[in-house]
Amino acid sequence: MEKLLTSTLQRVLKYYKSLNDRNVAPTDQTIKNLDAFIEPLPEKSSDADAVIDKLDTLGSGAFLATSGRRFFGFVIGGSYPVSVAANWLATAWDQNCGLYKITPIGAILEQVSIEWMGELLNLPKGTGAGFVTGATVANFTALAAARNAILSQAGWDVEANGLIGAPPVKIIVSEEAHPTLFKSLGMLGFGRERVTKIPVDGQGRMKAEMLPVINGPTIICTQAGNINTGSVDPIGKICDAVQGSKAWVHVDGAFGLWAAASPKYAHLTQGMEKADSWATDGHKWLNVPYDSGFAFVKNPEYLKAAMAIRADYLPASEFRDPSDYTPELSRRARGMEVWATLKHLGREGVAELVERCCSHAGLFAKILSENGLRILNEVVLNQVLVSFGSAERIEKIVKAIQEDGTLWAGPTLWQGKSAMRISVVSQATRTEDVEKSCEAIIRIAKSIK
Ligand SMILES: *Cc1c(COP(=O)(O)O)cnc(C)c1O
Repeated sequence: MEKLLTSTLQRVLKYYKSLNDRNVAPTDQTIKNLDAFIEPLPEKSSDADAVIDKLDTLGSGAFLATSGRRFFGFVIGGSYPVSVAANWLATAWDQNCGLYKITPIGAILEQVSIEWMGELLNLPKGTGAGFVTGATVANFTALAAARNAILSQAGWDVEANGLIGAPPVKIIVSEEAHPTLFKSLGMLGFGRERVTKIPVDGQGRMKAEMLPVINGPTIICTQAGNINTGSVDPIGKICDAVQGSKAWVHVDGAFGLWAAASPKYAHLTQGMEKADSWATDGHKWLNVPYDSGFAFVKNPEYLKAAMAIRADYLPASEFRDPSDYTPELSRRARGMEVWATLKHLGREGVAELVERCCSHAGLFAKILSENGLRILNEVVLNQVLVSFGSAERIEKIVKAIQEDGTLWAGPTLWQGKSAMRISVVSQATRTEDVEKSCEAIIRIAKSIK
C-alpha cells in the first residue's frame, strides 16, 4: 500500500507541475490512446501498480485541464491544494457521511460549514442545508423542501400522498433560468414545461414588475449568476413584491451567490436573504473538488420533512444526521474539504478569491475591447461574452482557440447572439494568465477572416 500511494502522490505532483505547460485541451493523440481501455473484462487479477500506471500514463492527458490556470470554460472552478488534501484524507478514512453515529467528524464539519457559509453568504440565522453533488441536485433538494412547505400549507402531505390529486402549484421562473432547473422541476413532478416564464432585461435579469398577482400555492425560482452574463435577478425586489402571499422564493445561485461573500460585490445579491431557499455549488467558486453543492433552506424542518428517512434499524438520533437533509443515505463526507477550504481561506480569503476572479473578468473585457473586440454583456461579476462578428466566424475562432491550447473557453448563444463565453472562477488563475490568454485570443482572431 505504501509504495502504491507514494508513487501515486508523485504522479499527482508531476501532473500539477505539468499543468502550466500542457495544452488545456487534450490532443487528438491522447484521445486515440484511450482505445487501450476498450478491452474485455480481465479474467485474472493484475498488479495494482500496473493498473494505476495504465490509468495515469494513458488517462492524465485525456481531459480538459480544468484545474489549471487558463481554463475558462463552462463555469468550472479549480481546487485548492488544501481541499484536495482534505478530500484525500476523507477518502482514505472511507467516510460515509449518512449518519452522525458513523462519522461524528464528518457530521460536525458539515454543521460548522453550514454556519460559516450562512455567515459568509448573509443567509438568515438558523438556515439549514444538505450537502449534495452540485447545484442541479441542490435545486432539486431545496425545491423538494419548497414543495413540502407550500403543499402542507394547502393541507396536503405530499411526502405521503404524492402529487396526484394535490392542489396545483404554480411555478414561476425567469426566461433565462438555467436548463438544470427545468430538469429539477421535472424530477419533482412539477413538469419541465408547466411553468410561467417571466421576461428578462437586456442583461438576463428577471423583470420583477412582470410578476403575476400571487394566489394559491406558488414557487418562484430566481437566479443569482446568469450563466451567460453573471447578472443577478432583483431577488430582494421579488421577495418584497410577493410579501404577504405564501409564495416560496428560491434562489439558484450556483456560482453567483458567492458575490455575497465580498463586500465589493455583495450589493448584487442584496435582499436575497429574504428568500426561503438557496442552491449553490462548492465545486465552482469555492474551488473544492467535485462533487460538491449545497441546498440551503431557511426553515430546515421543511428540508427534513422532504428528505429524512425512517427505519427501525436506524436509531433516532439526538445529533444532526446529514442524511436527514439530502436525497442520499450513504455518501462521501464532502463537508471535510468544504470545512478545510473555509478554515484555510477565512472570510478575507473567500472575499479576495471572489474579487480576484471578478477583476480578472474585468481585465479580459478591458484588454479585448481595447483590441477591437466587442464585449456583449456588462461585466458585473465573473462572466465575459466576447463577439468576433458573425456566428460562423465565432465558431471558427473558438475552435481555433481550443486547438491552440493556451486557454480554453466555449461558445454560447445568448439572447439570439453568438459569443465566446469566458468564465473566471479558478483559484489558480493569475493576472499573467489573463494577459497571456488575451494575447492568444487576439492573435487567433486576427489570423481568421
Ligand atoms: C452550473 C449551474 C447549475 C448546475 O450546477 P451543477 O453543479 O453542474 O449541477 C445550475 N444553475 C446555475 C445558475 C449554474 O451556473
